Amino acid sequence: MKLLQTAGLANLLRKICAPRKLPQSAPYCFDHGCTGKASGFATPRLVYRPRGSFCHTARNARQDQDLTISWRGGRASKQLAIVSTNIDLDQQHDDIMYPQVLPFLLVHAGCVAAIWSGVSWQAILICVLLYWLRMFAITAGYHRYFSHRAYSTSRTFQFILAFLAQSSAQKSVLWWATKHRHHHLHSDTEQDVHSPRHKGLVYSHVSWIFYRQHDATDLAKVSDFASYPELMWLHRFEVLPAVAVAGLCFLIAGWPGLVVGFLWSTVLLYHATFCINSLAHVHGRKRYVTGDDSRNNWLLALFTMGEGWHNNHHAYQSSAQQGFRWWEIDVTYYALVALSWFGIVWDLKVPPTQVLRNEQRLGSRVIRRTAEQLAGRFNPEYIALAIKSLVRESELSVRDALLLLQHRADLRLPSMPTREQLLSEAQNMFAKTRSLDDIVDLARELLVESVGLLLVVPPPLTSASPKS
Ligand SMILES: [Zn+2]
Ligand SMILES: [Zn+2]
Repeated sequence: MKLLQTAGLANLLRKICAPRKLPQSAPYCFDHGCTGKASGFATPRLVYRPRGSFCHTARNARQDQDLTISWRGGRASKQLAIVSTNIDLDQQHDDIMYPQVLPFLLVHAGCVAAIWSGVSWQAILICVLLYWLRMFAITAGYHRYFSHRAYSTSRTFQFILAFLAQSSAQKSVLWWATKHRHHHLHSDTEQDVHSPRHKGLVYSHVSWIFYRQHDATDLAKVSDFASYPELMWLHRFEVLPAVAVAGLCFLIAGWPGLVVGFLWSTVLLYHATFCINSLAHVHGRKRYVTGDDSRNNWLLALFTMGEGWHNNHHAYQSSAQQGFRWWEIDVTYYALVALSWFGIVWDLKVPPTQVLRNEQRLGSRVIRRTAEQLAGRFNPEYIALAIKSLVRESELSVRDALLLLQHRADLRLPSMPTREQLLSEAQNMFAKTRSLDDIVDLARELLVESVGLLLVVPPPLTSASPKS
């Protein structure tokens, strides 16, 4: 009690125990110069509600109502005032939507029907053409345009991109963009919708799509596109483009056209796209410190038209170019450049020289996530126990230990890593960055906070203690 009344310690305790400020509502990526305003993003009114304050159906009803009021008769430029209902953070509905799994499985099973339909050269040609055409629509449409606004285009080409992208049967462009913007905002944290680090490879590759909590579209996160009636129409009839293209394949080449031309290419597109969510966060090299597990993988880049340069992309998300070196093949970007010669797309964003040279300073969010990873390499409970035994054996009090812990970075308390040790560990763990000192300082601060908390508040007894 006497200890707690000490002014210095009280300040330290206040710092340790003070509730953390909630992060500002930021539906888009703001790191590395990718600001919402600069990219033409709207700033929607976001009202976060406690978890579970709406049931699933009520949430959808509320959203539809807001949307109808907003775009009825309105121009495309009119921005929506959509109330976000914090859908992505709702863990209440973590069950699988089995009815939606069925068509997905049927598309896969349908590929086997080639045994009966036969395989014609015409159907194989359709399969190849549809794969590359729709892969372009996925990377240039779903991803670089609708999720990141990495370039500008006309309303007509915007619709063509959306239609072609949706013909790959990966849900609506608005759904895709909301999930992807959410992914960048929470990459490889517990809130990420598809993080191999937290949920495993299979979940991040495919299973996450079928969980009810990921089904709804938080239109506040795509208010810049939800104001276009034609995109909302595609959102409501999301399978229509896929059905239309499937019908066209059947008309051109009969059953082989449908099975080989459409189904085979659709399944290949599924898994090529999904590999970016799963494998591109597991296998490959990290050129940039991004605070997440994104990697550059040349093999993935080849069959996804450039999407495999995923670490580059996480480092500078608003860029239309994802291969940052001349040898990093990025076919989507080459196609976009070719389209820009004809005035079909324009204002292609590219990374600034500082980013290309990896000389940029990191954003505060990336620094914090990276510092957390560094601090996580050391066990605060072990350090606290070592300090406690030092306190028992020496003249030092817990208060002295705490104050020294906080103010003397050079002091060698048992098991507490020095700044040099943290720096050396950081150099081993992370790619080159100008912000390494900031990361190390913050990691030490976090470690001191954790150890300090354990020193003044003993950990609760675990029920797992062995019974005598
Ligand atoms: Zn990613
Ligand atoms: Zn992205």
